[in-house]
Amino acid sequence: MTAIRTDLSGQTALITGSTSGIGAAMARALAANGAHVVLNGLGDAGEIEKLRAGIEAEYGVTALYHPANMLEPGEIADMVRFAHGKTGRLDILLNNAGVQHVAPVHEFPEEKWDAIIAINLSAAFHAIKAAVPLMKAAGRGRIVNLASAHALVASPFKSAYVAAKHGVFGLTKAVALEVAESGITVNAICPGYVKTPLVEGQIGDTARARGISREDVVRNVMLAAQPTKKFVTYDELAGLLLYLVSDAGASCNGAAYSADGGWTAQ
Ligand code: NAD
Repeated sequence: MTAIRTDLSGQTALITGSTSGIGAAMARALAANGAHVVLNGLGDAGEIEKLRAGIEAEYGVTALYHPANMLEPGEIADMVRFAHGKTGRLDILLNNAGVQHVAPVHEFPEEKWDAIIAINLSAAFHAIKAAVPLMKAAGRGRIVNLASAHALVASPFKSAYVAAKHGVFGLTKAVALEVAESGITVNAICPGYVKTPLVEGQIGDTARARGISREDVVRNVMLAAQPTKKFVTYDELAGLLLYLVSDAGASCNGAAYSADGGWTAQ
């Protein structure tokens, strides 16, 4: 046995959709373990700068921001070149940006379908396409796609999201096979419900709309399919991510790693 290296000092991680929620938490977790981070995502310029500068100050790493819109393939390729060009390397790519829309399929707006497929699926393809040659040249890389339990199972009224997330897992497997001998791994993390600010807001709204308590909304509406009846936490996802990007994760390739409290065991 040799000592396993989990310290990410000096490595560069690019995290799409990291101005909010899971992406911001994963960027912090990677920076806390020594990685330089390149942030991306939409939002208020002042808030984004506060996040970027805060990560630099708190963790003593370089934190950069690139404003690529995940709807624009050219901007995505530019973001990957920016991350590599500014720091001289690209070790970790976390494809995390995602959006949702809920409606019956016969009423699903075409423009929502197109945007969900573009942001949740095609953007990961464009980022991977640009990153793989750089990682191959370096002889090592870690690509993690932030998918969902909906990469493995479906729920009604989420046709575009479920299709995109199933596609992300397919993309994960195909690329994992292509790069398997290049020191690069490609995996998907599949969370159940995570208590992001967005989800937090929905608890109160749903409670008011249905005339039930917040506890009932969490237990019987949101977490109806999640056997633990607990939200997945940022720290739990960060632990999984850090394992996959570490040297210990070198043989984890082309797989979906569930953190869903048992949802997809049913
Ligand atoms: P969020 O809304 O808090 O964050 C989404 C991020 O994506 C933001 O930074 C946003 O700016 C960015 N983004 C959206 N559209 C973009 C675009 N066109 N260009 C660039 N950036 C864009 O959401 P979240 O809950 O943190 O979700 C993050 C990922 O985790 C998504 O892929 C989501 O599908 C997945 N996920 C979330 C949950 C959950 O319960 N929250 C569960 C499973 C999977």
